[in-house]
Formats: sequence, C-alpha cells, structure tokens
Amino acid sequence: MRLSRYFLPTLRETPKEAEIVSHRLMLRAGLVRQEAAGIYAWLPLGLRVLNRVCAVIREEQDRAGAIEILMPAIQSAELWKESGRYEAYGKEMLRIADRHDREMLFGPTAEEVVTEIFRASVKSYKDLPKNLYQISWKFRDEVRPRFGTMRSREFLMKDAYSFDIDQASARHAYNRMFVAYLRTFAGLGLKAIPMRADTGPIGGDLSHEFIILAQTGESEVFCDRQYLDFEIPPVTTDFEDVAGLQGTVDRWTSHYAATSEMHEPAAFAEVPADNQMAARGIEVGHIFYFGTKYSEPMGAKVTGPDGIERPVHMGSYGIGPSRLVAAIVEASHDEAGIIWPDAVAPFDVALINLKTGDAATDAACTEIQASLEAAGLTVLYDDRDERPGAKFATADLIGLPWQVIVGPRGLAEGKVELKRRAGGERETIAPIDLIARLKRA
Ligand code: ATP
Ligand code: MG
Repeated sequence: MRLSRYFLPTLRETPKEAEIVSHRLMLRAGLVRQEAAGIYAWLPLGLRVLNRVCAVIREEQDRAGAIEILMPAIQSAELWKESGRYEAYGKEMLRIADRHDREMLFGPTAEEVVTEIFRASVKSYKDLPKNLYQISWKFRDEVRPRFGTMRSREFLMKDAYSFDIDQASARHAYNRMFVAYLRTFAGLGLKAIPMRADTGPIGGDLSHEFIILAQTGESEVFCDRQYLDFEIPPVTTDFEDVAGLQGTVDRWTSHYAATSEMHEPAAFAEVPADNQMAARGIEVGHIFYFGTKYSEPMGAKVTGPDGIERPVHMGSYGIGPSRLVAAIVEASHDEAGIIWPDAVAPFDVALINLKTGDAATDAACTEIQASLEAAGLTVLYDDRDERPGAKFATADLIGLPWQVIVGPRGLAEGKVELKRRAGGERETIAPIDLIARLKRA
C-alpha cells in the first residue's frame, strides 16, 4: 500500500480529551475517531489491527472446539422477559421501539438469544457438548465511557456460550475456554493473568477474569508474581483430554490472584513477600459458569441417557477485541508512538523513501515493496513528498515492527537501512537479503 493513496489521518497535536496514553496514541496514529460519546469509527489502520486481533481469537476458539455463528445486534425484549433480565438490566441497556411499538433492544450480550437458538433444535444429550461463539458489536450505555475504546458504549465482543448435560462436563467446557484464553492473550503478545472473580448466587469457583497488568487499568488486583513466568499451554494441547486440561487449569489457579472484589488480605499475606504484587490491571476477558440460570426459565432442556429431561448447563466466555487494541497499545509504546507486536501489526514493514522524486530511489522502493509483498509481508510504503524527519515521525508513531529506509546515499553502495521499531536497532543490508532477514526474526 502506498501511503499517498491510503487514508491515514494522523494528528500532530495531542487531543486534550484523552487521559491515557493508549487513547492519545490511537487518536494521533489515526486508528479511530470518536463520533459520539463512547462511540468510535475504526479507520483503516485501526481496523487492520482489530481484524488481526479477531483472527487470533478465532483461531484459538476454533482450536478449542467452539463454533462460530452470528446473532442479531437488535434483539426482541420478549426473550429478555423470559429470562427475567429485561427489568433487571437497567439503564446500561439501550431500549428501542420499532414502528409497531414493539420493544426491542441493542444487545449488550446474547445469553437469551443463544439459549433460544439452542432450545429450538437441540433435544438430546447425544448432541452435546456444544460451544457457539460470535464476534459482534455490543452496546452498553456505560455511565462513564472513557479511555477511548477501552471503555466505550459501542464495543466489539467475542462471546461464546457452552452447553453441557451436567456440571462435570460443563467444567471441561470451562477448562477448554480457560486454556484457549491463555493461548489467545499470549498470541497477542500479552501477559494475562486469570484471577478469581465473583460467581454471585451460582457459587463455586468457575469464574475468572483475565487481567493485563497496566498502571492505567481500572481494576485493582492482587496476585503472585510467579504467574508472569508461567509457560503457556502449547499449540499441541489436546482439548479433548479432560484430565490434561484440568491439570493445566489447576496449575494456573494454584497461586493467589484476585481482583479487589474477591481479595482476601489474609490469604494474600501468606504469599511470600517478594512475590506479592498489588497492581492495577485491565480486564480483557471473563469466563463464567452459570449452570441453569437461563436454560431453566427459558425451557432449554435435553434428554439424558436415562430418558429424563433436564435443563442444560451453560457458561459464557467473553473477550473484548476493541478494548484489547487499546490494552496492547497501553502495554507496548514509547515516547515516539506505538510499538505493535508482530502478531497484530497493521502492516509488517514501513518502507521509507528518503528522496521521493529521485528516479533511482523511487525505482528501488517500488522493487523492494513488490518483492516483500511477493514474500507474503505487508508493506506500507511512505512515498509522500515529505521531509525524511516527518516520515520517520509517522513511522515511529504508527509503530509498524520494521522500517526499511531507502535513500540515494545507501543505494550508491547497494544498501538500505533496516530498523526494528521495538528496540531501535539498526543495520545496513542489501535489499536482496531483506526477506531472509525479516523471515528469520
Ligand atoms: P467491565 O467490568 O470492564 O465493565 P464486564 O464485566 O461488564 O466488564 P463482560 O460482560 O464480562 O464485561 O464482557 C466481556 C468482555 O467484554 C470484557 O472482559 C471486556 O474485555 C469487554 N468489555 C466489556 N465492557 C466493555 C466496554 N464498555 N468497552 C469495551 N470493552 C468492554
Ligand atoms: Mg461492564
């Protein structure tokens, strides 16, 4: 992609309304634009990141056995009356009347809809287990939308719902998602720690929030530092292996980790002093077993091997991709701008032409772009008629993992410069060696 033909509305000034660094950088780098309080448009560069985040989430959901669907954004109030949540949900729900004055709403979540889909077609234990997920826009009329896409009113959510015959198999469904989440966040270049979360009237221990440590996080958290060095379950993990998954989950819950709501100071005091970590964090995911809370009132029943009908056991599993983009920026930036982890970068390479208009430099850039793209790398070529300083500033701000800097002086010796955005290391290299070098990294 040539930058001169792209749409990258970067801002020179730091927007005053942005309180935290990720919000400032996402606006400045032209990733998003606010259209109303807590409602954002995703611009080309931001959308590419969001799509890559979703791709990592999808891959791990699919690997863990979940199946993708897409439910409607606009839902009927009828279903929510069946579950009893229509009144209970309160002002966070955006309620709408259609032309016939029927009560509708913009879905803040989808337990009711998915339960309706399930009950319409699944009747026997033989069709279980099932886990259905979607990635779709939700609306919650948050009291205080803030921090850009970190806490917005319209936001993207991956929400999965599991269905099982009994609590024991529901635990396995929970463990599948638990392990999938560990792999997902690691795949996004993040260290997320599962922390005990409130289970409300359901009780038990099957609710965890996945938290990324960050000074600007909204949650106060307490945990054992050892989690930061834990090994992530490998790609070869067998999600059918009940005991194996339970072992992984047991290990990842063996030390102290709780948000302030669940914090027990006495238990935390028993963590060796050197390992005690009281910090702030960003909730990027939440998994929750809630038994028959919806299946019972909504009549989602299955027949067991004994021929007896019973309400299905359910769990729900959320991740916020639009919040994650902000969380990634929060975790990975410097004074000059964003530093994208390779897995989610909007392009792999910023190709910088130091002398646009110079025939030899232009030709070399075009050739480098073509060869990198042919090798499967994505390139944003800064071919604008700008001074080098402005191009360097843009490249650092938008944070692509690699910069390839091409100018007449280097070309005279058959060389270009390669800069790694993350550490700032530079090397001079012949264009022909670029692909091997980038693939090696
Ligand atoms: P919070 O406590 O932050 O309001 P929640 O408990 O309401 O979150 P869930 O209902 O569990 O969140 O939603 C699943 C995921 O969706 C969260 O872990 C988060 O990543 C994301 N999410 C929730 N609310 C928002 C929001 N207002 N803006 C962006 N992402 C959100
Ligand atoms: Mg909330």
